[in-house]
Amino acid sequence: MIEKEYRQQLIKKQRIVIKIGSSSLTHEETGDINLDKMEQLVRVLTDLSNQGKEVILVSSGAIAAGRRALGICEKPKEKSVKQACAAVGQARLMMLYQKLFAEYNQSAAQILLTKYTINDSTSRQNAHNTFLELAKMKVIPIVNENDTVATDEIEFGDNDTLSALVAALVGADLLILLSDIDGLYTDDPRKNDKAEFISIVPGITKEILAMGKGAGSNVGTGGMSTKITAARIALGCGADMVIANGANARIIRDIIAGKTIGTLFLADGEGGIKLKDYLRREGQESPQEFKDKIPGIRIC
Ligand code: GLU
Repeated sequence: MIEKEYRQQLIKKQRIVIKIGSSSLTHEETGDINLDKMEQLVRVLTDLSNQGKEVILVSSGAIAAGRRALGICEKPKEKSVKQACAAVGQARLMMLYQKLFAEYNQSAAQILLTKYTINDSTSRQNAHNTFLELAKMKVIPIVNENDTVATDEIEFGDNDTLSALVAALVGADLLILLSDIDGLYTDDPRKNDKAEFISIVPGITKEILAMGKGAGSNVGTGGMSTKITAARIALGCGADMVIANGANARIIRDIIAGKTIGTLFLADGEGGIKLKDYLRREGQESPQEFKDKIPGIRIC
């Protein structure tokens, strides 16, 4: 198949996880929440839900919103400060999301996860059941890491990885990562003007891994390396993944309409880290147990 045909396949995607980074939700100059962008996002997501698609939003922005509310200018380094910012910011973020979704009569739910939720079979099962139930009720879950309780041992640390694990958990067929970059380049385009854009990635090769060495922005957490980790998890679990620029949420519609936008990573069930390997590496339970516990999950 040629790229255009792969892109056309995205039209059929039914269960879609969309991750939006803090940089795509805030004003670059002030760090304040960008209401216009949030409104766009909410409208596009509601419209996807109206089309009968199952949508899950993984939204960053809690720390950024809290830090702004508390008048903290620099990105906090100390964990307790980050947690305090998240505690203030997550509530603000949800208040805004609820208000905006309510305008379209769309219900939204908050789901806060830690690595413990994914690693512990009972918590994972409960999270899985909740996601499925919400999908039946046509509610859009808004997921974030439970930053206020996440300690070093149980934190994902970035929402790229979290969103890939959510995609695996619910058996999503598409993961879209919206960030402040257009997609994957052969090198960091901010430093190397010869860096070439890559539109389609048929599998994670050593060369692709080597390209995942990008820096993060002032507000977000993940760089290109966390996006490549996300790709390895998502692809290995049967979901295609797209990295695209979240400057305008309408890009989501264009991606799902099959337009050639961002970088498309193709799920092939081979070559990437599979979720079972991810869990095994983390020293967790056996893949078989994972598979038995969650029928919806695709363990390759
Ligand atoms: N959970 C963090 C927040 O809401 C974001 C982590 C990330 O940006 O990847 O601020």
